[in-house]
Amino acid sequence: MLGAMMQFPLTITPILERMEKLFGAVEIVSRLPDKSIHRSNYGDLCRRARAFAAALAAAGMKRGDRVATLMWNHAWHLEAYFGAPVAGCVAHTLNPRLNPDELAYIINHAGDRLLLVDDVMLPVYERVRDSAMLERVIVVPTTGRPVPPEYQPYAEFLQEGSSGYALPQLGEDEAAAMCYTSGTTGAPKGVLYSHRAIVLHSFCLSLPDCACLSQADCILPIVPMFHVNAWGCPFAAGMAGAKQVFPGPHLDAISLLDLFEQEKVTRSAGVPTIWMGLLDALDRHPGRWKLEAGLRVLSGGAALPEHLIRGFDRHGIEVRQAWGMTEMTPLGTVCHVKSSLSERPAPERLAIRAKQGLPAPFVEVRAVVGQREVPWDGETPGELQVRGPWIAASYYNLPGEQERWTADGWLLTGDIATIDPEGYVKIADRAKDLIKSGGEWISSVDLENALMGHPAVREAAVIAIPHRKWGERPLAAVVLKDGYEANAEDLRSHLAQRFSRWQLPDAVVFVEEIPRTSVGKFRKSKLREMFAGWEWDQTADGAA
Ligand code: AMP
Repeated sequence: MLGAMMQFPLTITPILERMEKLFGAVEIVSRLPDKSIHRSNYGDLCRRARAFAAALAAAGMKRGDRVATLMWNHAWHLEAYFGAPVAGCVAHTLNPRLNPDELAYIINHAGDRLLLVDDVMLPVYERVRDSAMLERVIVVPTTGRPVPPEYQPYAEFLQEGSSGYALPQLGEDEAAAMCYTSGTTGAPKGVLYSHRAIVLHSFCLSLPDCACLSQADCILPIVPMFHVNAWGCPFAAGMAGAKQVFPGPHLDAISLLDLFEQEKVTRSAGVPTIWMGLLDALDRHPGRWKLEAGLRVLSGGAALPEHLIRGFDRHGIEVRQAWGMTEMTPLGTVCHVKSSLSERPAPERLAIRAKQGLPAPFVEVRAVVGQREVPWDGETPGELQVRGPWIAASYYNLPGEQERWTADGWLLTGDIATIDPEGYVKIADRAKDLIKSGGEWISSVDLENALMGHPAVREAAVIAIPHRKWGERPLAAVVLKDGYEANAEDLRSHLAQRFSRWQLPDAVVFVEEIPRTSVGKFRKSKLREMFAGWEWDQTADGAA
């Protein structure tokens, strides 16, 4: 027997309508490039998002047409997040940190017709102007300086829509947004998010055991709006009616902490690098910021070192680790200690919190070796595979790229993980970053996290270097904190408290910085290039 419920499409339009009917006065705060603060509210957002939708229609943008954005996190970007999808268009966020060739490739591959660009990002656009096939470029002034005459100002574009424009009725499976993977291997690949995926993801992200968003919260997404839709925070916050605060281009720790204090932020989301900077600033300036009691932040994008969890606990901030991917809208797992484990000794609870966490509702996980799922014993690693309603079923317009999906419809994540009997997922490595020494696997992530727990270490990345006898051996590239000293032996002794001798890096090399990807992760491919000619025999006994 079928249930007797209405068919009601899960689209972004009812979120927009809800925001305008219920939360018009809730604030949206944006920090501008000159550091001044711009204040608006959901009422303004919805009016302007509707005007943007009407202007897109007047400009001839049809259902499914891509509207690209090249913008920082701020209120105008949010207008595009809502305005383009409710018009039936696809909001395609572009990453300004990509090189011009990649950016032009992505714009052309996506078939973007119209670009909305911050005035401060015009130099990024101008580097691709000749190679990117865009029909129209509209400039959002964020500096107060006049828009160069060859471009149309955003305010003028907003005037072009008809006042009688009515939002179209959309199907929930229509595309709403698009993002290309950061493409550490091969060409970047586009992921097309449906309205339904974004709506369901918003419900899930808001749950108490995920980002825990209520109307009374104030969220500051540090993760860029061009990185998987700021992990879905703006949509989830809009549905909840929570105050949103955007940092613009100012992502240094002091600016962020000032904004946290001033706007009474209760929720945030960002990558571990950002949190490392914040923790360092909090430690260096005790008592300088009065942060909200109950401040809770999500850390994702890369493994969260244990010392960061401990450090944030010290400052009364709860950090929760989440794991996901561009292909997953992005939420996959979030970590919290289950009530049945809350009596475990403190070190055990800390070890649990350092895992990537429990699968979110409707996200199914399995770890696989060959064709077989490995047991959930917390020890046997396998490639993590996932499926669920907000997980991509294919890439955009790349029919030959189906090898990332199994025949029975699971996405191969490329991450190697264990799953313990309680269901906690622990990512050991990207498949290509695992180190195989003498036939045994060594997790570079575990070594990195332990190294970053040493008081003198700011950052550490570990890579495999070919070795004649052992196949591969680990090399650690380490950045020391300003004013601290440590030598290779100090760090190896520190690691020896937790790791067997054969797992220790044979070489510890001190560097000025670790190369990073455009979204702030360690770029290990670059490190491997830097150490391509490394000769073990000169430096190490190879005595793993
Ligand atoms: P992206 O699509 O750029 O967001 O990258 C997704 C990849 O980032 C995942 O496949 C993981 O390798 C990595 N990643 C994301 N979150 C975490 C995490 N919490 N711990 C470890 N790796 C992570």
